[in-house]
Amino acid sequence: MFDFILRPFHQKLTGFSLLRFKHYHVHQVMLPYSGFLLSVIPIYLLFGLLDYQHLTEHAWVATLSRVFLSILCIVVLITLRRYASKYLELAELFLVLTVYMSIITIGKLAMTQGNFDYQSGGVLVMVYIGALSRMPFKLSLFGLSLMLLSYLLIIAPDRIGQDYGEELDRISIFFAVFLISLVASLRRDSETRKSFQQFSQIRSQQLRLRASQKKLALQTVTDPLTELKNRLYLTKNGPQIEQSAQHTNKPLSVLMIDIDNFKSINDTYGHQVGDNVIYGVAQIIRQHCGRYTGMNVRYGGEEFLSVFQCFNEQQLCQIAEKILDDVPKLYWPNTNLRVTISIGASIDVKQRWDLNELVSHGDKALYLAKQNGKNQIQLITQ
Ligand code: GH3
Ligand code: MG
Ligand code: MG
Repeated sequence: MFDFILRPFHQKLTGFSLLRFKHYHVHQVMLPYSGFLLSVIPIYLLFGLLDYQHLTEHAWVATLSRVFLSILCIVVLITLRRYASKYLELAELFLVLTVYMSIITIGKLAMTQGNFDYQSGGVLVMVYIGALSRMPFKLSLFGLSLMLLSYLLIIAPDRIGQDYGEELDRISIFFAVFLISLVASLRRDSETRKSFQQFSQIRSQQLRLRASQKKLALQTVTDPLTELKNRLYLTKNGPQIEQSAQHTNKPLSVLMIDIDNFKSINDTYGHQVGDNVIYGVAQIIRQHCGRYTGMNVRYGGEEFLSVFQCFNEQQLCQIAEKILDDVPKLYWPNTNLRVTISIGASIDVKQRWDLNELVSHGDKALYLAKQNGKNQIQLITQ
């Protein structure tokens, strides 16, 4: 019968998921609803008017305790909501129990004055737990049991002596409210767990979506063969590099690198070897430039571009020479292939921070290197 209520409890929460559930319970359940306890305080205070009707001499004690407890509730709730929301559920239990005990005490006081019709107000606190409170089931069970028990032990024995039949009627009402509030609390917990499960599913879908969006964004700016960045990345990040170099007041510089006679490598050894050569050259560029630049780009088929913002002319040429020297050392199994490259270097000594201009000067320098017999570096300074 209660399977639809109990089903969400079948999935046991442990470790990290339990911590997440507790966090969810505090922030999505307790915090938004803890204001309900405040809304009950005016009702609790209004009952103070009845104190004067039922308690003749000591009504002021009851009124004083009602005012004191109301202030305590307001202060505790507002403080915890702001500074220690994880204790809200314990605080709510403590407050409802204290309020309940004050009602029991007032009822007892009335009995000492011969009034046996002012002891049932506590049942409203039990109704509050069933209808408005958001405490977890275990706390509700504890609170409701304690309330029922204290009524049975403190109030009921004296009243049974007065009117057995009527008291039996009241005890049965207390029992019924106890059970209804308990089931309501269990259903509430079950709904909280269900909504937590939905919340977790949506959250993990969001995380997966975000991760795949990130991966996709990276793929769109990465060259799949060499894993260097592509032209799109250059277009997107060029302005940022210009600004950053301008900000640090350092000249921008570029190396345009092109593999020599690549067409004949393809024609002689096939495209597979051609691809391996492109990959091998890209790794040497990454090895020498990676530390100094965020931008090693596969600019075209067998053409690469590296952008730097920390070199002077001499340092730029040193890096270019290292790359020029290392590429012919690459070993290609089952071939007598010796790969060389040409490099066009360009540096913005006038510090105009115009990347497009710098690339076109690098291109011109590369053209010069090809014209002059390849396997060499040419430099153009702006
Ligand atoms: P140069 O020394 O003047 O640079 O001559 P080159 O033969 O290297 O230059 P060219 O631009 O004539 O040839 C480039 C060739 O690169 C043409 C194209 O088929 C080949 N190519 C472009 N992309 C790829 C690729 O991804 N893989 C392979 N294997 N070849 C490619
Ligand atoms: Mg070439
Ligand atoms: Mg080329």
